[in-house]
Amino acid sequence: MAQAFLSKRVVTPQGVVPGALLVEAGKIVAVCRESEVPRDAEVLDCGEAALLPGLVDTHVHINQPGRTEWEGFHTATRAAAAGGYTTLVDMPLNCLPETTTVAALEAKRESARGEAWVDWMSWGGAVADNQKHILPLAAAGVPGFKCFLIYPGCDGFTMIDQQQLEAALPYIAESGLPLLVHAELAGPIDEAMLRLRDADWRSYATYLASRPDEAELQAIRLMIRLCREYRFRLHIVHLSTALALDDLRAARAEGLPITVETCPHYLHFCAEEIADGATLSKCAPPIRGGANRDALWRALGDGDIDMIVTDHSPCPPEMKGMETGRFDLAWGGIAGLSVALPVIYTECLRRGFGLMEIARWMSSAPAALAGIGSKAGALVAGRDANFVIFDTEASFEVVPGKLHFRHAVSPYVGETLRSVVKATYLRGEAVYRDGGFASSPLGCEATLSSL
Ligand SMILES: [Zn+2]
Repeated sequence: MAQAFLSKRVVTPQGVVPGALLVEAGKIVAVCRESEVPRDAEVLDCGEAALLPGLVDTHVHINQPGRTEWEGFHTATRAAAAGGYTTLVDMPLNCLPETTTVAALEAKRESARGEAWVDWMSWGGAVADNQKHILPLAAAGVPGFKCFLIYPGCDGFTMIDQQQLEAALPYIAESGLPLLVHAELAGPIDEAMLRLRDADWRSYATYLASRPDEAELQAIRLMIRLCREYRFRLHIVHLSTALALDDLRAARAEGLPITVETCPHYLHFCAEEIADGATLSKCAPPIRGGANRDALWRALGDGDIDMIVTDHSPCPPEMKGMETGRFDLAWGGIAGLSVALPVIYTECLRRGFGLMEIARWMSSAPAALAGIGSKAGALVAGRDANFVIFDTEASFEVVPGKLHFRHAVSPYVGETLRSVVKATYLRGEAVYRDGGFASSPLGCEATLSSL
């Protein structure tokens, strides 16, 4: 029997319309007028709440297998469901083994079985010495590859230098899959660190000075040159510096296949407001100044940044160095998967954006990046019935007990945010509703639907 979800604001690619989302056997059958709902359909009236496509987060550190005490499929995917996400794509570096071979991918699949509350995929890693594993990983179903141009913080996942990268790029180009790049080069950072040896490392200004814009800018320029030469799909992860936007805009105008993401923490926080010792706000590249934040928002509005993904990257709280407040000793990474949508909605209200932009930035664009764009990412007939019942009028305070990820620490705790995720549906089933979860995990590994 069909289900009909009525809303005054159904967010479709063509616009926000009043109507009904008709769902049958886990698929969207139609977005239609209320008067067109079949008489025998089971009707759920969502009232004033909007219906958004299920969000897709292509940048999450699930850390399982191997570092499940940091996060894990069970906790990360519950946080995702509570936050309106229906698909996560896991980063390949913090798990053990790192996802740099098909055997490691199979170990991840084994470890995720029966644990996921929403759908998931895993990026493959491109590291110093696994060039021969690129095409086998592609054949085994990864949606793309991730590499680091700088030490990634964990020894098992090696950074890749230009020569090693150039040995991998022909394979990546052949795969047709995107290469996601952590774009910072060590040169400017090493120079800054020499100057800052005796600085006060409880000061956020010291940490910010240690990861200068120039490190991102040089890395992005290198990747643009390589993209021009090898013609692979280049994706810049967690763009933090607005100074790189001119180069990226010019490269895209030239026709290079480049996409760009940024993250909620760069769009919500700013360096001027981060207290000294507040190591929960440490991430790399760093959260920069308020004027930079405004420029990132303009770039989203102009289409120069394609998507917002979380870079949810937790660790055990003792690794955040909160007792000493020293930024040099704290693990970098911000946890906030379950609150990313309200964070962005709250900012959008201030900045004149709305549900259409959110659907594009947080659902359709990341779905396209992950190669699942014909199955997810929009409320369109024929796609999976993945959607969010989203109350835009309510507000809430972020409290540790409702974060749902493994360690209830986050720089968002204590903030009052506008909008509440009422329910999240995965293939027509409510996996999260009003604070509670489905009786069992319904997520599975998503598979590529298109390139
Ligand atoms: Zn990351």
